[in-house]
Amino acid sequence: MPKRLGRMDEDKLLDRFEVAPGKRLHLKDHDPGWMGTPDLRRLGRDEVKARAHRYLEANLEQLAQAQELLWASDTHSVLVVLQAMDAAGKDGTIKHVMTGVNPQGCRVVSFKKPSTHELDHNFLWRYWQVVPERGQICIFNRSHYEDVLVVRVHPELLEASGLPPGKRGKSFWKGRYEDINAFERHLARSGTLILKFFLNVSRAEQKRRFLARLDDPDKHWKFSTADLHERGYWDQYQKAFEEAISATSTKWAPWFVIPADHKFVMRTLVAAILTRGIRRLDLRYPTVSAEGLAALKQARHQLESEK
Ligand code: AMP
Ligand code: MG
Repeated sequence: MPKRLGRMDEDKLLDRFEVAPGKRLHLKDHDPGWMGTPDLRRLGRDEVKARAHRYLEANLEQLAQAQELLWASDTHSVLVVLQAMDAAGKDGTIKHVMTGVNPQGCRVVSFKKPSTHELDHNFLWRYWQVVPERGQICIFNRSHYEDVLVVRVHPELLEASGLPPGKRGKSFWKGRYEDINAFERHLARSGTLILKFFLNVSRAEQKRRFLARLDDPDKHWKFSTADLHERGYWDQYQKAFEEAISATSTKWAPWFVIPADHKFVMRTLVAAILTRGIRRLDLRYPTVSAEGLAALKQARHQLESEK
């Protein structure tokens, strides 16, 4: 990352990760090991990493201020969607990007396999319950996209969900994408900024991270044989991601494909895109009316004339 970025340079840098609405995503064109432009890479890994850290720090400071403004203006909310293969670094990204924000205005919701109660409703129901309130940032650690990813890769999950019988071909999934776009459009129209991140880790790096978990007893808890099982469906997942992201990257809820093999690159980019997104809302602190100002003056007078 450059030492100091002008807004235009920054836009150019960040825009390259956005999936243009209507464009077909080919993951093979996205390098999970991306570590900067050729100019930057010439500086070497250590220097790029140091710059990324400085850029992250600057963004986290701005993010804390942006969040306060979001909270004070109370007109908008922010929904961050994180999706990835296992061990791509969702949890670490949340931890890093959210340091410094006021916990009162921020919430993380992690979605697991739906309960039978949840499955007794339409698939978007459980997400509706927890969309962010005005003034709040909410991070979905996994999200409504699981219903077109894991459920697509494992059709038996769909069959167990109690839907009326019917064909589950292409048009079924197209229907789900439409539902998702409509859901997000409604949220956006109601004042929710939606930013969606696919943390794009390579198969080789996932293997390395799994092995690291097996090597280190303190990391054993992070390893699950279920994750290894899912790794066996790598190609099916990549295809499901490509299709879902292509169909649901919209003007009102864009997807970003974030290179995830270098954690410092991933965290820095997510923080920068989030900070930029809130800044672009162009929020203002609420102004006080003439009567309000008079009341404040009176309050000051009252306090100062106390014995
Ligand atoms: P983790 O994030 O490691 O705690 O794992 C959560 C698990 O729940 C993952 O295997 C997800 O694929 C699974 N999961 C999340 N949402 C859904 C869903 N809508 N349908 C089926 N499985 C899901
Ligand atoms: Mg897991």
